[in-house]
Amino acid sequence: MGAQHPEQPARLTDPLKYVRAIHEIAPSEGTVHLDPDTAMNPWTLRAALRAAGAAVLATDLVMKGEVQTAFCPVRPPGHHACRTRSMGFCIFNNVAVGARHAIEAHGLDRVAIIDFDVHHGNGTEDIFENDEHVLMASIFQHPFYPYSGTEDPAPNMVNVPLAAGSGSREFRAAVTKAWLPALDEFKPQLVLFSAGFDAHAEDDMAMLRFTDADYGWVTEQVADIARRYADGRIVSMLEGGYALGALGRSAVQHIRVLAGLNA
Ligand SMILES: [Zn+2]
Repeated sequence: MGAQHPEQPARLTDPLKYVRAIHEIAPSEGTVHLDPDTAMNPWTLRAALRAAGAAVLATDLVMKGEVQTAFCPVRPPGHHACRTRSMGFCIFNNVAVGARHAIEAHGLDRVAIIDFDVHHGNGTEDIFENDEHVLMASIFQHPFYPYSGTEDPAPNMVNVPLAAGSGSREFRAAVTKAWLPALDEFKPQLVLFSAGFDAHAEDDMAMLRFTDADYGWVTEQVADIARRYADGRIVSMLEGGYALGALGRSAVQHIRVLAGLNA
């Protein structure tokens, strides 16, 4: 990473102090950098709070049975944000806020987080590694930013690194051979997605080659697990996705399955 930016909040160890520091550093005009990749303008704090709040609201609605599934098309994304640190465009870890809320407020014992963003969700792993209430299943391009997820992951982390150039075949094999058996064994009571669409072949942020149809397919596979163990409950949070055409089409594939429109 580059030099310390002058606006960067001091290294904190208390998550609450981190949240307060983000409120204090939020600019009323112009832009401040929290780290070399993550900046805030006057609208960012509100968007970041709403993104994390969407995870809480969606979890509440799904847990109360008012809806069976929810998709939150939020920005900024969340899965690189650690307990006390912004990173990679992420300020608060939205999916982690939803998962923790499901455990603390709704008393769930087992929550699964499915992360198909092209980048490893290092923040989510940082927050939940060795947490018996959470199983995280992910794929990500490796070696690639943020260069994590492969060294001795905790037992509740089902991480499948994929080489640059990997496409549908490798992705579907990873899901079938690694994710689904682990999810079947874990029996999640709620499933959350870190739904990043930047592994799409048209997205030049990275070098995986997923198709629109892969996103519908993986959602079907995971929805089967959710129907089996979680009364179909799914909360999905948008993460990356930078080729807007591919992002839109892939998100539609994902949402059609969540909405039960593919049956
Ligand atoms: Zn990403």
